[in-house]
Amino acid sequence: MLNFARKLWNLGKDVPAQGFSFSRPLLLIQSDDWGRVGVRDREGYEQLRASGIPLGQNPYDLYTLETAEDVAALGEMLNRHRDSTGRPACVLMNFVLANIDFPKTRRNNYQQIHLRTLAEGLPGNWKRPGLFEAYRQGIGDGVFYPALHGLTHFCKQAAEYQLAKNDERGSLLRTLWKAETPYIYWRMPWIGYEYCNPEPPKAGFLPAEAQQELIAAAAESFTKFFARAPVSACAPGYRADRETHLAWSKCGVRVAQNGSGSPLHPHFDEWELLHLHRTIDIEPSQRDLPLEKYMQLADDCFARGVPTIVSVHAINFHSTLKDFRGPTLRALDEFLSALEAKYPNLLYVHDGDVYDIVTRGKFENSHGKVSVTVQQNAGKARSAAWGAK
Ligand SMILES: [Zn+2]
Repeated sequence: MLNFARKLWNLGKDVPAQGFSFSRPLLLIQSDDWGRVGVRDREGYEQLRASGIPLGQNPYDLYTLETAEDVAALGEMLNRHRDSTGRPACVLMNFVLANIDFPKTRRNNYQQIHLRTLAEGLPGNWKRPGLFEAYRQGIGDGVFYPALHGLTHFCKQAAEYQLAKNDERGSLLRTLWKAETPYIYWRMPWIGYEYCNPEPPKAGFLPAEAQQELIAAAAESFTKFFARAPVSACAPGYRADRETHLAWSKCGVRVAQNGSGSPLHPHFDEWELLHLHRTIDIEPSQRDLPLEKYMQLADDCFARGVPTIVSVHAINFHSTLKDFRGPTLRALDEFLSALEAKYPNLLYVHDGDVYDIVTRGKFENSHGKVSVTVQQNAGKARSAAWGAK
């Protein structure tokens, strides 16, 4: 199919990447950090406070891990909404496929970081009854779409370097890990992001081979956990370079997600990955914006033929240390209702659907086949080529 698209669009390495516009309003919701543990609820919170870490200064001090109830409540809200084809709204969840195996790493005297994959379960004293079933239920209902975030969120190399140096930073890590919290980013940006080490002596993106190993391991864990391979990926911290993109494409990933900024049109890169760019941040845990602001941003996207891609991190659905979930569900519910009322032609889609639309002119869901006319930025409608309606 991709050859077909390449031919159709005359895409190739010598041709500058050109973006795609869509004839119908497409709404995507992309959400990061699912499956990644943080502060271990009230017990972990008290333990960290007692160890001298003054938690409570930033929303991310209250980042825990979603519960089965959080996930079910999100699924129910999405399922109450319908687009013009009768399909419910869908949240793409970017999963972190492993957590630190705290007991094992401690037994090894922090010489090396041991990981526990989601398929093996949560580490140490972390408990989330029914959580994995709740993910699967939503995926089965078509309201969640799992995608790849990483194996870890932080840069393992950076953490191991700090542990070996054994100064304040290493000691902060040990304090956190005793309480079974991997890190709190804003307190320690030197922990970096999975593919990007922020500090000397090895600052910068990891070499190609190291990235490929991490991404292959993450994709394998993903496939084990979800019984399907990832189609879309988003690098932790959006820190990806061309080696990251190449490694994704080698693992069969077709769509690369990018953080919000200018609302760029979807486009292919040199590895034939379709790049999507987020256009609206809905992050009630950080700041509240009125509905009109979100609608204005969506209107702008649709007027330009660009999909509206919402970014909303998992923290916004957490509830055990603070109820982030309630305000977020209300904001999203309101936003989706307003879109449905204003855009009778609205389509709720996920990254895999957009890939199908771009390469085939249509996608399929449980409500049948849906055709969408796609244009290159330069102009020329191509719907006739697919015989689309
Ligand atoms: Zn993330």
